[in-house]
Amino acid sequence: MTQHGFPAGQSRARRASDDADVIVVGAGPGGSSAAYHLARAGLDVLVLEKSTFPREKVCGDGLTPRAVKQLVGMGIALEPADGWFPNKGIRIIGGGVRIELDWPDLSSYPGFGLVRTRRGFDEIVARAAQRAGARLAEGVTVTGPVLDDSAQRIVGVTARETATGDGGAERTYRARLVVAADGNSSRLSLAMGLRKRDDRPLGVAIRTYYTSPRHDDDYLETWLDLRDGNALLPGYGWIFGVGDGTSNVGLGLLNTSASFGHVDYREMLRRWLASMPAEWGFAEENRLGPVRGAALPMGFNRTPHYTRGLLLVGDAGGMVNPFNGEGISCAMESGEIAAQVIIQALARPDRASAELALRGYPQALKDAYGGYYTLGRKFVGAIGHPWFMQFATRHGLPRPALMRFTMKLLANLTEPRGGDAADRVINALSRITPAA
Ligand SMILES: Cc1cc2nc3c(=O)[nH]c(=O)nc-3n(C[C@H](O)[C@H](O)[C@H](O)COP(=O)(O)OP(=O)(O)OC[C@H]3O[C@@H](n4cnc5c(N)ncnc54)[C@H](O)[C@@H]3O)c2cc1C
Repeated sequence: MTQHGFPAGQSRARRASDDADVIVVGAGPGGSSAAYHLARAGLDVLVLEKSTFPREKVCGDGLTPRAVKQLVGMGIALEPADGWFPNKGIRIIGGGVRIELDWPDLSSYPGFGLVRTRRGFDEIVARAAQRAGARLAEGVTVTGPVLDDSAQRIVGVTARETATGDGGAERTYRARLVVAADGNSSRLSLAMGLRKRDDRPLGVAIRTYYTSPRHDDDYLETWLDLRDGNALLPGYGWIFGVGDGTSNVGLGLLNTSASFGHVDYREMLRRWLASMPAEWGFAEENRLGPVRGAALPMGFNRTPHYTRGLLLVGDAGGMVNPFNGEGISCAMESGEIAAQVIIQALARPDRASAELALRGYPQALKDAYGGYYTLGRKFVGAIGHPWFMQFATRHGLPRPALMRFTMKLLANLTEPRGGDAADRVINALSRITPAA
């Protein structure tokens, strides 16, 4: 038997020419989580990351209790003294109403969230994967898949050292399986024929940082309607205190909105912030760094999540939560799910049986998120209509019980079994809604 249970000579055993058991492309939260769990199980994992840490990533930097649970599960210490800024819940502002909702008390998730900029966050998660035994090659850009003799199955990737640009020599790395955790654009998935689906929601959001007295806000503040005086601007916004003297401020728009593709995001941000109290400090002279934007691929907008030796994790598989734009926890959770599937597959005695295990990955994701994301797509369709948002903010926000239910729904924070009435309704709705 080989190290992972394959009888010698079986087709799925690691070949002498392989550089690793598994190659993970991208060391964002999804790739690093996959690498961590694979390495913990004793597999040889090679992570190829085009940038070098520390590096920025456009994000709101908000971590819900789901993300906190993942970090705790990777053995990462979350001390405020080390730069982790805790929060108690979310503050929702809309329809002239302002309501604070604490994270629910649950046996399955911690009762606090965090804020940490991606500059530090991604490196911490990547280093945890390294400590677990994964090999991390920074500054290596993957340029395409390497296919087997039948040109069907991915058996590795080609890559160049990023710093050398196009002039650098291309190298081939081989492995039994490849994880695409290369983010929203996922060029590796594209090269394997996996395009984005037009029938799934997509958001575009921008953010920047300001020095602000609101930096130590211990609620994640979400604005459901954005105003410039009496004018209602499209989209939603957030102000997240980073706890280091700055606030992360941003706004986004979903492709279900009639304004999608027709707005100047930076101008919208300027108009929205101009309507805020001057003492909050969201003025040009307090802005630190540029306003940057990126896409949020939601509700499984690239499928299938497994094909021909390639597993998609996080944004590469379009896994951002359509209810709230949260993508870090889904990236980390899908990384862990992919790792568990791979660990089982690589221990199977023959190729057919390993393939059967791998084909279970899309189903495992559907079981985890499918019904909930289908509900989310309907929600996103509804909030694309201004009348829905106006109705919801006017009539929904003032009712605390309804809003607590909404908070559990938006943040996907329920007890998997038992729980209160809200938990049971949300779980039942997610179960009975088809996972498409
Ligand atoms: C404006 C904005 C605000 C957001 N706010 C939040 C928030 O507050 N909370 C939240 O939970 N989510 C938020 N999100 C979503 C979140 O940022 C993503 O869902 C999350 O980063 C996905 O993680 P990932 O690991 O799948 O991909 P990524 O974080 O994108 O990581 C992909 C990695 O792959 C690397 N890579 C790419 N191509 C290659 C290649 N060819 N070769 C090698 N490496 C490669 C990249 O350098 C990167 O390190 C926000 C998104 C945006 C755009």
